[in-house]
Amino acid sequence: MKVLVVGNGGREHALAWGLLRSPNVSEVLVAPGNGGTATLPNCRNVPLAVSDVAGIAQCVAELGIELVVVGPEAPLAAGITDFLQAKGIPVFGPNQAGAQIEASKAWAKDLMASAGIPTAASAVFTQAEEAIAYLHGQSAPIVVKADGLAAGKGVTVAPTIEAAIVAVEAAFGGQFGEAGQRVVIEQFLVGQEASVLAVTDGLTIRPLLPAQDHKQIGEGDTGANTGGMGAYAPTPIVPPEQMARVQAEVLEPALAALRDRQIDYRGVLYAGLMISPEGDPNVVEFNCRFGDPEIQAVLPLLETPLDEVMLACVEQCLAELPPLQWKDAAAACVVAAAAGYPGTYRRGDRITGIPEAQAKGGVVFQAGTRAVDGQVVTDGGRVLGVTAAGTDFEAAIANAYDALAAIHFDGIYYRRDIGHRLRSV
Ligand code: ATP
Repeated sequence: MKVLVVGNGGREHALAWGLLRSPNVSEVLVAPGNGGTATLPNCRNVPLAVSDVAGIAQCVAELGIELVVVGPEAPLAAGITDFLQAKGIPVFGPNQAGAQIEASKAWAKDLMASAGIPTAASAVFTQAEEAIAYLHGQSAPIVVKADGLAAGKGVTVAPTIEAAIVAVEAAFGGQFGEAGQRVVIEQFLVGQEASVLAVTDGLTIRPLLPAQDHKQIGEGDTGANTGGMGAYAPTPIVPPEQMARVQAEVLEPALAALRDRQIDYRGVLYAGLMISPEGDPNVVEFNCRFGDPEIQAVLPLLETPLDEVMLACVEQCLAELPPLQWKDAAAACVVAAAAGYPGTYRRGDRITGIPEAQAKGGVVFQAGTRAVDGQVVTDGGRVLGVTAAGTDFEAAIANAYDALAAIHFDGIYYRRDIGHRLRSV
């Protein structure tokens, strides 16, 4: 089977890699892909933007592709699934109506309220004055969120009401364009964050192993938020008995609420959770796609062929798929970023040591890279995600850092404390 993956990040490299481990998958094409997918055996890039849905449909028809897997949220929110499905193309990824669960935080909050899903109390505003008047009656810390997609930058955890007002004014002042013309103000939740990525065919929903990301750029979880600096799985923050609660209190009710809205949701439903000090799961956000870098830590542990999981979702027969099989191990992914990230960063630096890192047992998922004359050079903020498995977390984390030590590019930056929160569990 030939599969087309849409996207160009570390997540899409990991998905292509995961699909190619299946005996059923002969070739993966990636639109537009990156330096990693350009150099992966049995994989090639097609120079099509994720927004070029007509070009993607044509490529599917010409190359005999049997499954399209959409990586990022933006094309899902723009309706790529609806467009391709109308042409009879099987797509793993929800339709535009379903993608609202990520593309509009107000919509997601409404869905959570109607389904009784535990989440922070919130209010939605379309006028700055009303939002500010509301804030004067609240206490800090408090969280201000642009409603729409803002590449992870639309959320302010405000330590004071004054800071929250500044965030409201910035959003309505156009900082996030249309995405900030509606604002959700939310109570601050205390606890540990965890990501539960689940797959669904619209009728049945099954969680993957729970993971934990590291959002901030600095060690000890300090500094600016990023797309994610590292992850590990399965996180002990969500042990099996907690996963049963997440299934019953979050995933099943969310799917039922989507169905109540006549949404046939097939793909990933990602629950970003805050686990309270008492151990209760609260939803911080839902996403409509795999987490990056969480999936880089989860996929190396999956033994069930990935294409079988995805096809069961697309063909709506997930209930018939045997339970997902996992390696009895842990995995960790450490992200290497370009100097300056998450601000303005360097590009075009030659990357060396990838084969050596792989020889040490690491899997190097490339994100912001480009292949130039057979050389891989940096071409984005998050450059690589070096992943390794191990018998336990300490081993997995040590193996990932050992592999990463073989890699060099000018200005390389990575956190040296991925997994530090494990030590406080
Ligand atoms: P991303 O796209 O990067 O996943 P996002 O922009 O969709 O993020 P959220 O995940 O809702 O936004 O929030 C980003 C981060 O802000 C969360 O990971 C969490 O650390 C923090 N945060 C959000 N809501 C709350 C809350 N109610 N209480 C405490 N922290 C919060």
